[in-house]
Amino acid sequence: MTSTNRALVLFSGGQDSTTCLAWALSRYAHVETIGFDYGQRHAIELRVRPQLLSKIVTIDPAWAPRLGEDHLIDLSLLGKISETALTRDVDIAFCNDGLPNTFVPGRNLLFMMVAATVAYRRGLDVLVGGMCETDFSGYPDCRDDSMKALQVALNLGMATRLKLETPLMWIDKAATWSLAQDLGGAALVELIRADTHTCYLGERGVLHDWGHGCGVCPACALRARGHAEFVARA
Ligand code: ZN
Repeated sequence: MTSTNRALVLFSGGQDSTTCLAWALSRYAHVETIGFDYGQRHAIELRVRPQLLSKIVTIDPAWAPRLGEDHLIDLSLLGKISETALTRDVDIAFCNDGLPNTFVPGRNLLFMMVAATVAYRRGLDVLVGGMCETDFSGYPDCRDDSMKALQVALNLGMATRLKLETPLMWIDKAATWSLAQDLGGAALVELIRADTHTCYLGERGVLHDWGHGCGVCPACALRARGHAEFVARA
């Protein structure tokens, strides 16, 4: 592959991946999206994806012609494996580390690997993911080193020159809101606030300043705190 203009965005329907999608749409000529159905406890994030895709192209006239196919991949296998692992390894440190019991070891590695396979078939040469060390340092498969090692492994294993881009790796949640502001102005911030889904408990509930969600789970708390800091800095 010679082009470096065709991207595949890991797009879950959350704040981070929607920001990554806007980031990709602002710099690549062709952008496709991929989402994974792995038996999530709550399917809300899968439900918000189509409406986000249809709305995000209205933010900037340049983005509509760039947005291509969406790939929704059935990874129910992951749900089965992780359930087994959690049952068997119930004493391992994940829960003690403050990670939610929905944490699936290696999930992002598998997502990237599947994305790379789809990218190969579709002739895409950049993979974009919302992995971030700053806020979620406990997730080992979100680490920059994990992604860099995976990029090498994928390219060796598939004889490709795929590039793994993680635009949120070193920024915090407030800066992620700021990035959205820079990429798509108030309209993108509002789209992310009102239409993305982050809550671990799958609650939509009322629309808070920072978006929908239960307001108490770690994902909501992080999102709310980031939004408050973003507003304070503005
Ligand atoms: Zn929540």
